[in-house]
Amino acid sequence: MSAEKPFDFENTPGKLPKQVVPTEYAIRIVPDIDKLTFTGTETVKLKARAPVHQLVLNALELEIASATLDGKALSKSALKIDKENELLTIALPSELAAGDHTLALSFSGKINQQGQGLFYMRYQEQGTSAKKIALGTQFEATDARRFFPCWDEPSFRARFQLTALVPENWLAISNMPIGSETKIDNGKEVRFAATPSMASYLNVFVAGELELIETKAAGTQIRVIATKGKAEWGRYALESTAQIVEYFNDYFGAPYPLPKLDQIAIPGGFGGAMENWGGITYYESTLLFDPEKSSAETRQRIYEVIAHETAHQWFGDLVTMAWWDNLWLNEGFASWMGTKCTAHFNPQWEVWLQKNIPRDPTRRTGISKELAMEGDARSTTHAIQQPIATEAEANSAFDDITYRKGQAFLLMLESFLGEDAFRDGIRRYIAAHKNSNSTTADLWNALSDASGKPVGEIAAAWTEQPGFPVIKVKRNGESVSLTQERFTIHFPKAPPLQWKIPLTYFLVGENKPQTRLMSGKIDNLQNIAVNRALKLNAEGAGNYRVEYDEPSWKLLLGALPNLDVPDRVNLLSDAWAFVQANRAPLSAYFDLIEKLPAGVELAERDQIINAFNYINRLLLGNPAREKFQNYARSILRPSFDQLGWDPKKDESPRAALLRASLIAALGDLNDQEIIAGCRERFQKYLLDPASLAPDLRPSVLWVVGHYADEATWNRLHALGVKTTSSEEKQNYYDALAAARDPKLVAKSLQISLTDELPTSRAIFLVGKVARDSDHPDIAWNFAKANMKALLAKTDALGANRYAPSLFAFFSENSRADELKSYAKANLPATSAQEVAKAVDEIEFRAEFKSRLTPQLAAARK
Ligand SMILES: [Zn+2]
Repeated sequence: MSAEKPFDFENTPGKLPKQVVPTEYAIRIVPDIDKLTFTGTETVKLKARAPVHQLVLNALELEIASATLDGKALSKSALKIDKENELLTIALPSELAAGDHTLALSFSGKINQQGQGLFYMRYQEQGTSAKKIALGTQFEATDARRFFPCWDEPSFRARFQLTALVPENWLAISNMPIGSETKIDNGKEVRFAATPSMASYLNVFVAGELELIETKAAGTQIRVIATKGKAEWGRYALESTAQIVEYFNDYFGAPYPLPKLDQIAIPGGFGGAMENWGGITYYESTLLFDPEKSSAETRQRIYEVIAHETAHQWFGDLVTMAWWDNLWLNEGFASWMGTKCTAHFNPQWEVWLQKNIPRDPTRRTGISKELAMEGDARSTTHAIQQPIATEAEANSAFDDITYRKGQAFLLMLESFLGEDAFRDGIRRYIAAHKNSNSTTADLWNALSDASGKPVGEIAAAWTEQPGFPVIKVKRNGESVSLTQERFTIHFPKAPPLQWKIPLTYFLVGENKPQTRLMSGKIDNLQNIAVNRALKLNAEGAGNYRVEYDEPSWKLLLGALPNLDVPDRVNLLSDAWAFVQANRAPLSAYFDLIEKLPAGVELAERDQIINAFNYINRLLLGNPAREKFQNYARSILRPSFDQLGWDPKKDESPRAALLRASLIAALGDLNDQEIIAGCRERFQKYLLDPASLAPDLRPSVLWVVGHYADEATWNRLHALGVKTTSSEEKQNYYDALAAARDPKLVAKSLQISLTDELPTSRAIFLVGKVARDSDHPDIAWNFAKANMKALLAKTDALGANRYAPSLFAFFSENSRADELKSYAKANLPATSAQEVAKAVDEIEFRAEFKSRLTPQLAAARK
């Protein structure tokens, strides 16, 4: 492996020549809300580091009206737009001397429907029936160039000073506080203070009829901003932010760098959140918490997302990755840091443990290490550090491997180096690189200095090559031999690879796990008593699997009641992965389940629920399905009966989450009593919404929707249309998407073409129908017929993934061929990776189904 070098501007990848760098931008934007266009002017202070004959910067879907350099007008013919490369080239009449210069441009552009560049959001105002419009921006990875011409690569840091014209009753927000506001004809001109030096993709502008609540933490002004009538639901976010900022001030050893931090809830644009420096944007249901209507799960998700985005204010914004090949550094770190902070203040949520459950990310919080490991075992995986040549590649780098494997590796590394040494390393790193850029090598160097351990050497195999290992355990008297090999699923000719594995292990019953660096292919543990159960990968914190030989496995099965829940969940995850990988029969996984102590441990039951859900979907239309459903109910129902329908006083938040999970799972598995119970509660809810606990609403509505007749579907639909709460709306539309009756499936699909849902949400409805309706075929036919209208609602990131994602619910080889030929005729080359992933998934499912069907038919129960 070629070791990466520390940050060095000259040698950072990218398209833009490095002779000319911007230092300061002053940008003035005038939106035209009626025409959905804008005009702009900008003055950019430049430093030419060497004499040049042309300027090359980024611009996309912008018309350049005029340009001057050092006050002299440039002819229009000197300006060339290269659409394909998203570049603006300005040929200069004579050589430009090295030194300081000023470029001025005037331009115009579009206000988009999808969350790309400057976009608009239409929404219904809370408490009134008025239809309103608001504006927002989304620039990461490469869309700042749609808002103003700029050097749009992360190492071209500069100061940005934005001015915008907005209607007088609007509130406008950007990265920095407002410097001055001037009344003008038809509105006001808002001038924001200049930012510190930063990457272009971190700019933000949001404006509309907004309101706010605010507080102060450690000298920083903290605000939560939302559309009128909703700011008060930001109270939980406001209090959480104050707590989180103080935690990070201490952890990073550097105070929050800007005068204010805004958490902005926007009613559309995109589904997640974006860490713009000083002005973080969130789709509103990821920020707003209504104590009367929101669920415990929403509360937890809000905290985790805020912690993740706020960690980026230092790690990502104050120090920025040099180039998109180091995106994992931003995202893996923020995911790990956000989770660490969340766990610190909310131990009752067991957030680390929940990372070990392969939750369906579209249904529940998408935060799973297991999901990353599933993807990382396939032929279509990639190293977390991957070469990124083009804008499209930068956009497709935002995947599970980048976020979750990055986080999982950092967790493993922290436990190996020790919490204190790790934190000291991070403090050194921030101090050394603040207001600048960095590479992975810079982080490893700081951690090595702090810990005295060769971090770069350990990390290389984890970040620079794909995949991860399985350790095979074999007992030989008191000696235990360990052998590592690459773990794969549906990838028979995988190139063999090797890792340096920070290993943990313990004898069941002993308190503290031992640590050890396994640096070769083979290792040995000595003096392990033959009658004691040995467990590797304590709490499942390591990013590897463990395959035990029969004597070791028998000892572990006998010791299950003495293992902690995280270790039992780890055994379940590995056992299920071995079934997928054809290393073990399904009966081995069922055996383990049956030997677990009966109970209501959330993470343990959730692991089982997720595996059962996968099998149940796979068996769609298969004669073995009914027998499997019977079996699955017999395992899950006792847990539900122990919890009961109604929340108990003083029960743990985990009990509430598990109750909700079990209702959805058992309903899906055709448990008639559960289905009847959901219908009965839905009827009561219609008369008195308070009768149904917010925690149970998503599950109960989903089950009612899944088995809905037309009248029920219409009722759910009317409720969804009426509510102005994004969270509540999502619950109703998820229920509609789950309907199984083909006539209703068609009705649900039609909604994706209307403006009932924000555009960013509307298109995902089709994927939810494909998964939950039992009719992926109807969903695909609909999408095929309406692809153009659907893709108009998504950004570049989504466009690459959209069609392939709808195929992931098929399990017939003929569908893999269909996708390949569809892609060839209709999809851009940039979606090749996503197509390959979906093809692999379909082929794996076909193979897995053909393997499981006879096993299930032959099973006793
Ligand atoms: Zn992030």
